[in-house]
Amino acid sequence: MTVHVICDFDGTISQRDMITAIMERFVPKESRPIIDAVKAGRQTVKEGVEAMFELIPSNHYDEVARYAQEHTQVRRGFPQFIHTCVQLGWKLSVVSGGFDFFVMPVIHKFSTDAVDIYCNHLDTSGPRLRVQWSHPCDQACEGGCGLCKPSVIRQRVHSGDGVIVIGDGVTDFKAAKMADFVFARAQLLKLVEERRIPHLPFATFDDIIAAIDDKEGPLHAHIQ
Ligand SMILES: [Zn+2]
Repeated sequence: MTVHVICDFDGTISQRDMITAIMERFVPKESRPIIDAVKAGRQTVKEGVEAMFELIPSNHYDEVARYAQEHTQVRRGFPQFIHTCVQLGWKLSVVSGGFDFFVMPVIHKFSTDAVDIYCNHLDTSGPRLRVQWSHPCDQACEGGCGLCKPSVIRQRVHSGDGVIVIGDGVTDFKAAKMADFVFARAQLLKLVEERRIPHLPFATFDDIIAAIDDKEGPLHAHIQ
C-alpha cells in the first residue's frame, strides 16, 4: 500500500492565490467580473482562467512570470514537510491549477526529485496569453476543472492506497471527496466539515507535520 499526498499550490503552498495576484496587478478592472462569475458558479474555473489570461498580451509574459516569482511567499514548514514525506516513503504530488512559471521555481528550490508536479502552461505564440491545460477532465469527471485533480488522482492511485489531500479552495473539493484524510483551510475547511470528510484544519505545514507525528491522532486512524 502506498500513501499519496495530493497538495494544492495556490493559497496552500503559496500564501496567496497567484492567479488572482497576477490579475490584480496586470488587469484588475477587466478581470474582476470574471473572478466574481467563477466564484458565483456562473462560469467554470476552466472558462474563467482562460478568459482572464486572454486579457493579457503575450509580450507581457516575461513581466508576468517575474512578478509571480517575486511575489510568491511559501507557507511555513513546507521544506520540512517534503522531507517528512520522503522519510515516510509517502508519494508527494503538487497538483496545481496554476502555472509552471511560478510553481516549478518554488518546488525546485526545495527538491527536484522527491515531488511530482502537475500544473499548466501558457502559450505565448499568439497575440494574447493562451492557457494549455496539461491534465484535462477525464470521462469520470463532470468537467470544467481546467486542471482536473480527480483525474490525476485516478491516474496515480491504485485500490488499497491511502490518499491525503491538502488544500484551501473549492477547486480542491472534488479531490477531497476522494481522500481518506484532508488537511484544509479557508473555504475547503467549511466544505469538508459539511460533508463530514475526515480532516484537520491547518495554518502552516508545521501543523501538518505535528499531525503526522501524533501517532494516536485522527490522521493515523484513517491512514495506516
Ligand atoms: Zn475534472
